[in-house]
Amino acid sequence: MDNTVVLNGLRFHPYLRREQIDEQVARVASEIRRDMEGKNPLFVVVLTGAFMFAADLLRHVGINENQIAFVRYASYEGTSTTGSVKQIMGLREEIEGRHVVIIEDIVDTGLTAEKMLADLAGRKPASLKFATLLYKPESSRTGFKPDYAAFTIPPKFILGYGLDLDGKGRNLADIYACEE
Ligand code: 5GP
Repeated sequence: MDNTVVLNGLRFHPYLRREQIDEQVARVASEIRRDMEGKNPLFVVVLTGAFMFAADLLRHVGINENQIAFVRYASYEGTSTTGSVKQIMGLREEIEGRHVVIIEDIVDTGLTAEKMLADLAGRKPASLKFATLLYKPESSRTGFKPDYAAFTIPPKFILGYGLDLDGKGRNLADIYACEE
């Protein structure tokens, strides 16, 4: 069976299967539970790419005393970063004194992560942690390192499980990588 996905003329091959994703998401969830139990954490989900990861992760974390909020940033066009990060939807919740965990789909250059942390750190949270589904350390332009990462991967362009190509392909249950 050919599992290749073709979008906008680009070919994507299966890279991480849902079983592997489930396993690593459960591992990250248990690390977060260990660190956040009893702290009434505020989970800040970065739209749109992290929606599927966040839904699975938060079901596994198993802390009922928590809140979930959403923010939105944009920097990508097609398969490459524009280098400038725009905040499209900010965080209205009060975070002073709160234990905040940001939930992101992927850390590539690290520019979005650094911008978010700078925005939120100024609002005096008790702690600020960063969880990502995918981490591409070789693409880093900032040296930013997430506190929690489900997968560390080489600098491939990824599709599926929330991640898109110009808005398409977010629905895929597995993670795909663009053919090189
Ligand atoms: P950064 O600011 O770290 O360069 O990139 C963060 C954002 O770029 C991610 O939240 C995501 O929206 C987008 N991005 C980076 N790498 C990829 C990728 O491999 N696939 C997709 N679909 N988006 C990516």
